[in-house]
Amino acid sequence: MEGTGLSSTSEQKLGRFKRVCVFCGSKAGYKSTYAEATIELGKILVEKKIDLVYGGGSVGLMGLISKTVFSGGSHVLGVIPKALLPHEISGETVGQVKTVADMHQRKSEMAKHADAFVALPGGYGTMEELLEMITWAQLGIHDKPVGLLNVDGYYDSLLALFDKGVEEGFIDNSARKIVVIANMADELIKRMEVGRGEKEGVCGCP
Ligand code: AMP
Repeated sequence: MEGTGLSSTSEQKLGRFKRVCVFCGSKAGYKSTYAEATIELGKILVEKKIDLVYGGGSVGLMGLISKTVFSGGSHVLGVIPKALLPHEISGETVGQVKTVADMHQRKSEMAKHADAFVALPGGYGTMEELLEMITWAQLGIHDKPVGLLNVDGYYDSLLALFDKGVEEGFIDNSARKIVVIANMADELIKRMEVGRGEKEGVCGCP
């Protein structure tokens, strides 16, 4: 690849996304597989030269993803509400920190700065962030891919509930397909990249 300093193989390795927003637990969970999957995702982002947007801080899986991406050389943006800034709540944030007024502003900032979203295992906060991005896609507020890394079947019951929503007439079949699901990080990013490319960077996020 003359002029780019990259071989064709390494160019192929680069991702289609510039910045991915990762939602994940402020706790690490009990199984080591959650941390392992988080580190694996971080490494894939670095390998594909994708930057990270996340909720800021160093707690739980959030700390792991940010440290993995930062130490690998990609840019990290942590968007954190004033109320969560104290060290004893969120710890240290690596990379760039953007302080926002509240949780609502945080979510729209995170959405604005990213061109895709990935949820890892987590608690209410992660589930709420994932569901909001799916809802915004359903409403046409953004058209960015939303991925779910279903590590060790952690989200099986949530996905069964989505299916129940379709069966019972609350979720359209087309809307059920918004979320891209995989058990492994490399497979998830690959699937999310398919069909991506034409309408990048559009976000009318509230
Ligand atoms: P949870 O899944 O309930 O642990 O919440 C994690 C999600 O909520 C993250 O993606 C963050 O955006 C936000 N969050 C919850 N707790 C914290 C915290 N202590 N510091 C920073 N962000 C947090």
